[in-house]
Amino acid sequence: MGRVYNFSAGPAVLPEEVLREAADEMLDYNGSGMSVMEMSHRSKEYQEIIETAEQDLRDLMNIPDNYKVLFLQGGASQQFAAIPMNLMKNKVADYIITGQWAKKAYQEACLYGKANAIASSADKTFSYIPDCSDLPISDDADYVYICENNTIYGTKYKTLPNTKGKTLVADVSSCFLSEPVDVTKYGVIYGGVQKNIGPAGVVIVIIREDLITDDVLPGTPTMLKYKTQADAKSLYNTPPAYGIYICGKVFKWLKKMGGLEVMKQRNEEKAKILYDFLDQSELFKGTVVKEDRSIMNVPFVTGDADLDAKFVKEAKAAGFVNIKGHRTVGGMRASIYNAMPKEGVEKLVEFMKKFEADNK
Ligand SMILES: *Cc1c(COP(=O)(O)O)cnc(C)c1O
Repeated sequence: MGRVYNFSAGPAVLPEEVLREAADEMLDYNGSGMSVMEMSHRSKEYQEIIETAEQDLRDLMNIPDNYKVLFLQGGASQQFAAIPMNLMKNKVADYIITGQWAKKAYQEACLYGKANAIASSADKTFSYIPDCSDLPISDDADYVYICENNTIYGTKYKTLPNTKGKTLVADVSSCFLSEPVDVTKYGVIYGGVQKNIGPAGVVIVIIREDLITDDVLPGTPTMLKYKTQADAKSLYNTPPAYGIYICGKVFKWLKKMGGLEVMKQRNEEKAKILYDFLDQSELFKGTVVKEDRSIMNVPFVTGDADLDAKFVKEAKAAGFVNIKGHRTVGGMRASIYNAMPKEGVEKLVEFMKKFEADNK
């Protein structure tokens, strides 16, 4: 069997070109006589890999000079703790709860200070993004926290919340590099790379310099202090070296594709194919309000759990894998990240049409 169309929410599909390149360099990276996996993270070769990766990411996202880029471990989930530990100077933060990842971040922050859930879409199973134009932001909030693209429920903020001058912190794990962003609107942008960028094991944190201080909560581990990592340029200890190398290749691929403006167009085009089909289907339907639909994660249902299971099974047999919805919500979910070709979405829709005809 060749390569399948992998609709996994993460770890997820990577550009085939990147995988082939990595395969070519597996035994001998650039004449070094060794794999990047076998290389010292302090070597000249590796220095160039990590520095080039950072520069390419800066170019892609147009990251201003007063922001640091950190390549860390521990996944997005570890940042749920690192953020309050580093940023909760007043021990107050406001959280907008738009799904499980935001909720987990909120629950973690509750361990360190007063975390306020200032808005939520839990009342309708997180199928929308609350109106965030005039929220009760706390006067002494150290930051306002959002999960910008909700991987499980398939919603995305189309406008950022009005934080009334407070620092915005965003988990962008599942929309990282899917479209251009204005970095200056955030204090911290972070995400695990295994959704839209690279292999599991790397989390990227983009943080404004004034937020990197020694004034962290007592007991903050050295490793979790942004200052430690920023001062050491992500090389305080051994970084997830091979993962960063693959991320670097994906950054090069994105540049070659034309950058984030082009990716946004491509992603919107792909998402439209699927949503247009869902909107006219008599069998399948999307689960999210139209205005807040994610262009990365597209959940849908038939309304009948047995039929959903049948669809997932038959889809898999036809080469469309990992299309089952998150275990907590059921149904289906097609994650159509940067590396999913348009052809994959078109073929999925063809398959859905046929399934609909056969199961009327
Ligand atoms: C997957 C995901 C996480 C959890 O990531 P880990 O790297 O496994 O900790 C957090 N937030 C969002 C939005 C995600 O999609």
